[in-house]
Amino acid sequence: MKKPMADLHVHTNFSDSTFSPEQVVKTAAEVGLSAIAITDHDCVDGIEPSIKLAAQYSLEIIPGIELTVDNEGYEVHMLGYFVDWQDQAFRTRLKTIQDSRINRIYKMTELLRAQDVDITAEEVFNVAGCGSVGRLHVARALMEKGKVRSMDEAFSRYIGASGPCYVEHLSFTPKEAIELLRSAGGVPVLAHPRVTRNDRFVPEFVTYGLRGIEVYHTDHDRSAEKRYLKMAQKHDLLITGGSDCHGIGKGRILLGTVMVDYALVKALREESDRIKRAG
Ligand code: AMP
Ligand code: ZN
Ligand code: FE
Ligand code: FE
Repeated sequence: MKKPMADLHVHTNFSDSTFSPEQVVKTAAEVGLSAIAITDHDCVDGIEPSIKLAAQYSLEIIPGIELTVDNEGYEVHMLGYFVDWQDQAFRTRLKTIQDSRINRIYKMTELLRAQDVDITAEEVFNVAGCGSVGRLHVARALMEKGKVRSMDEAFSRYIGASGPCYVEHLSFTPKEAIELLRSAGGVPVLAHPRVTRNDRFVPEFVTYGLRGIEVYHTDHDRSAEKRYLKMAQKHDLLITGGSDCHGIGKGRILLGTVMVDYALVKALREESDRIKRAG
């Protein structure tokens, strides 16, 4: 029998994937996955529809999230697994973050207009649809209007972290993010550390309650995998991995390209149970 495999990092159009929960679930089933974690940016609204749709396939949905965190000027992405997505206090906090993302789009489009790029916040919201809005939506709106030729150009000319139209996220520290996830019973896991270059902060994050590290990721090569495996052993952290699929939002469909053993899902579930019991 085929070994059950999981993809622990998948976005929907409730953040910045071009795929609806229906397309995500269908594609995941087609590529033979047994479980996927829905990890939208600062949003849990894609979880319930995904769970409902997955019932038609033998696909398990792991409730997750990817929080955007500011570590004194360095962007950090913090994944949370088996979060209680129905928890009211958690959802209220997420609403504040989503509102600040909306505000950020007004600021970014104002900066774009100051660069003579004709674009409005409403045009970005139309691209985004539901859930949390972000720079990938700005980039798509710029492409659709013919203001840039590629997503890369949108980031390199305007909205990349050092671009003239970049606006920071709401200030949210790693400690706050880890505590928020744990308060909702979620297992905090550092996302793609090679991409965000936060290796050196791992020991500090562990003191706040970090419990895992994303070892396998589309943008991690073999040497990064080896490095993070070692780091996980050293700090007694759980190992996770996923494709970070954004539909066709990042050029190609990544579902099915990064898979991990289902045993890792069990370890995450047990850790979440421990966090929930410890209250
Ligand atoms: P935001 O949360 O609004 O800051 O947007 C983050 C999204 O933009 C994530 O999906 C990133 O992977 C994506 N992103 C960040 N920088 C770039 C870049 N230079 N090129 C393409 N996508 C990027
Ligand atoms: Zn994204
Ligand atoms: Fe990320
Ligand atoms: Fe992601």
